[in-house]
Amino acid sequence: MTENDTTGTAPAAVPPQASGRRGPAPLIDIGINLAHDSYDADRDAVIARAEAAGVVQMVVTGSSAASSRTAISLARQHPGRLFATAGVHPHHATELTAAVLKDLSELTLAPEVVAVGECGLDYYRNYSPHVAQREAFHRQLELAARCGKPVFLHQRDAHHDFIGILREHWPALAGGVAHCFTGGAAELECYLELGLAIGITGWICDERRGAHLLELVPRIPADRLLLETDGPYLLPRDLQPKPSSRRNEPVYLPHIAAVVGRARGEPAESLAQASTEAARRLFRIPEIESSSSL
Ligand SMILES: [Zn+2]
Repeated sequence: MTENDTTGTAPAAVPPQASGRRGPAPLIDIGINLAHDSYDADRDAVIARAEAAGVVQMVVTGSSAASSRTAISLARQHPGRLFATAGVHPHHATELTAAVLKDLSELTLAPEVVAVGECGLDYYRNYSPHVAQREAFHRQLELAARCGKPVFLHQRDAHHDFIGILREHWPALAGGVAHCFTGGAAELECYLELGLAIGITGWICDERRGAHLLELVPRIPADRLLLETDGPYLLPRDLQPKPSSRRNEPVYLPHIAAVVGRARGEPAESLAQASTEAARRLFRIPEIESSSSL
């Protein structure tokens, strides 16, 4: 794996460059908060590093009307490589007024937008009241049904309400992904039975709270296992050497893929290929033209 570069004294965050050799199969980071201001100073370098490491396409997460707009504009600056989601995170549920909902419904129609979200329920942080969260979740599932795009879902400590609402809308939806899955076996079975894809982040690299995922990932069918960094959050804890900044970025996706592959007893190559195909299928992302990557 390219991330096993242990040349010693490099002052961290110097990711592997494409030294003329191509990694295993190309990867797609299906959840990267590239609109986040922690990337303002070096966003282009972050994208370039990711591409050099084989992360050829990315879905930029929108978590508010404003960040969805930024995600779309980033996708327009990098056509065919970056795509966007448009949605309001449950933390911001109270922001989803009628006017914002109308804005959002227009944003979801942009061709760069490949999913509605992130949306869902978060009863862990409780930044918005539960009633507002459920309301915002319903409205966005309706939007997804209307525009015919899949949903990019966030759920924390709210499984019961979440699955209830999702089941109600599911027949009208074009699929979806449970992004940053951190739950247990019962939740996983429930999502798989419904037909969701499962997004795995560097949470699985966290020996304190993510170890259970090592046992669960083998249960996810290859054609529904998606990979994401959720950067700038969730820097994989087992990176060697550790970057001096705690910021996560898509260049670390191959590291996450390697950990998931080992847990599944599957070669990195076939995992990468299956997961990239699954991402392309769900989000209807066309294969990248290889003109600029050689
Ligand atoms: Zn999330």
